[in-house]
Amino acid sequence: MTSLENESLDDASAISSTCSTKRQKNCGPNFDEIWSFYIKGPGRGNGHYKASCHYCSSIWERGKPQVMKAHLANHCKNCPENISDYWRRKLIEEADTIRSRTIDLQNVDCIPSEIKCQLDQSLLKAWVMAGIPFNVIKNPFIKDLFKKLKYDPPSRSTLSGWLLDAEVA
Ligand SMILES: [Zn+2]
Repeated sequence: MTSLENESLDDASAISSTCSTKRQKNCGPNFDEIWSFYIKGPGRGNGHYKASCHYCSSIWERGKPQVMKAHLANHCKNCPENISDYWRRKLIEEADTIRSRTIDLQNVDCIPSEIKCQLDQSLLKAWVMAGIPFNVIKNPFIKDLFKKLKYDPPSRSTLSGWLLDAEVA
């Protein structure tokens, strides 16, 4: 319950707590909830735990909630459809929460690192869930879009590295 993801969510909530105190409620339970679909193995440091999928026995040496959710939503072959559907909705809900937090950023010149971390996670999630090839991140139109949003996206190799970290580690 003290994973990095959870801490960064709390930080982001604190930043926007003036406009919403309710949202923090959405972070904690979601974070814990994913673990009821996985077998929690031994701790791997930094609040990460080994995770095994209940349905297909896929194993992550360091289970990351976002990847675990995306697995159930999109990738798990044995997961019942209603469970996949549930996690797809959850991921969309979370993306909406992040979007509403970033509204506070319209008057700033660059994105605070806590929010950048959230955006990076959303980006990774969007890329994985939509099946977008990682080299699309280098597309000039995509780059231009991110530039207008004042967001400095991770490089192609960083992006695929995160996923490898999460799925192969
Ligand atoms: Zn699975």
